[in-house]
Amino acid sequence: MSHFTMTIAGEGVTAPGTFGVVNPATGAEHAEAPDCSREQLDEAMASAADAFPVWRSDEPARRAALLAAAEALFASAADLAPVLTAEQGKCLQDATMEIIGTGVWLKYFAELELPREVIQDDARAFVEVVRRPMGVVAAITPWNFPVLLAAWKLGPALLAGNTVVLKPSPYTPLTTLRLGELLRGVLPPGVLNVVSGGDRLGAWMTEHPVPRKISFTGSVPTGKKVAASAAPDLKRVTLELGGNDPAIVLEDADVAAVADRLFAGAFFNNGQTCSAIKRVYVPDALHDDLVEALAERARSARVGNGMDEGVQYGPIQNRPQFERVSELVADALAGGGRAAAGGRPIDGPGYFFEPTIVAGVDDGSRIVDEEQFGPALPVVRYSDLEDAVARANGTEFGLSGSVWGTDTDRAAEVAARLECGTAWVNTHVALAPHQPFGGFKWSGLGVENGPWGLHGFTELQVVHRAKS
Ligand code: NAD
Repeated sequence: MSHFTMTIAGEGVTAPGTFGVVNPATGAEHAEAPDCSREQLDEAMASAADAFPVWRSDEPARRAALLAAAEALFASAADLAPVLTAEQGKCLQDATMEIIGTGVWLKYFAELELPREVIQDDARAFVEVVRRPMGVVAAITPWNFPVLLAAWKLGPALLAGNTVVLKPSPYTPLTTLRLGELLRGVLPPGVLNVVSGGDRLGAWMTEHPVPRKISFTGSVPTGKKVAASAAPDLKRVTLELGGNDPAIVLEDADVAAVADRLFAGAFFNNGQTCSAIKRVYVPDALHDDLVEALAERARSARVGNGMDEGVQYGPIQNRPQFERVSELVADALAGGGRAAAGGRPIDGPGYFFEPTIVAGVDDGSRIVDEEQFGPALPVVRYSDLEDAVARANGTEFGLSGSVWGTDTDRAAEVAARLECGTAWVNTHVALAPHQPFGGFKWSGLGVENGPWGLHGFTELQVVHRAKS
């Protein structure tokens, strides 16, 4: 078994205990990760606090270090991708894309301007509005895109002059631990600390007195706990939470033209994407054709161990999630739904589930109302567009959504009525470093990416110089 260490104060650190990490393609433990003790978390926080004064004072050095970090990721993609596939399940090609994307995000932030605005310059005063770093940032990530989502936090946090303690999900700690090891030679000691452990380590981080900011990506229930835990200390929080993204297909859509992109928008990363399409609303006239077009794609999708050549979709990442997807699909079928494709777990070791298209379900069915976060997509028919929009919005979630049609102006008009952070037209999960990403309602608080994401890692300060 390979050896993985945490990074604290620039050093590789083992912990008093370890926990096993399962390869979801085999269902067997394949590695051990350090289980960070409370004392070690204190050390990580102290080292981040110690590194802060020097790090915050040298912007050119920060930019150079972030660029070097991006280059290190590009150069290590072939080494890191198999580690990611083995712990997360995604196919090697997607794992490689995630590592390269991590570098792309760091490079974007290395080059992003830190705003400084003069709002008054007259006989009486010179007044500037500037962005100051906050101090230590506690960053907590989920298991679906462990390294890319870490970069969404590290890039802006570090550029702004903060230092970071980063904790990956206990299901997928390994590539993030490797990231810490890789960046030991690139970032000054203490600037990035990487710790691993169970959920309680996340709770220790949010209640810890040192961090001034919690940047969290994960589920709605955990996000609420994070917000509550940060409140007594008035720590700043950014929460990127779950979604139940609707895709509304309009009557003028060309089914053959949109089916590939709809399928990709739902099944990217095996459906384990916060902003994946999680339910499709389709008008009566197009319903049967669309169900069949999506089912065809589901039937021909190549599912298997992500390390194997030609595999497009790996296993579901962990057993509880596999059981949840199985349960939601079984519930839909028991309630009168029809599996136009798939519908069952795949026999054998590992957490494999057939890519599934469920027809004949409606709002009120769990698979439509809840975030399934896996390879099972419900297609819901509608007769009245107003009703479809109301149902799309009739949820506590509000991460993103999309509208599909040939008349793109009309589709954009409908998209503008979706109550969500990103409204796409004829695409879905089109994310980029310069594009802010966040959720309405229970899907989040604050945004990541772009200058808006950078602002979330700063305090706004007014510098007012009197002239007379
Ligand atoms: P989760 O909420 O179970 O865990 C996320 C992280 O929080 C993990 O590192 C976990 O160890 C930690 N954690 C658990 N309890 C904690 C606590 N009390 N205090 C602090 N940290 C704690 O989520 P998950 O199952 O890993 O991820 C799936 C969820 O994440 C889905 O709902 C998905 O939609 C969401 N997600 C959202 C985005 C986004 O950008 N909006 C991106 C990816 C995933």
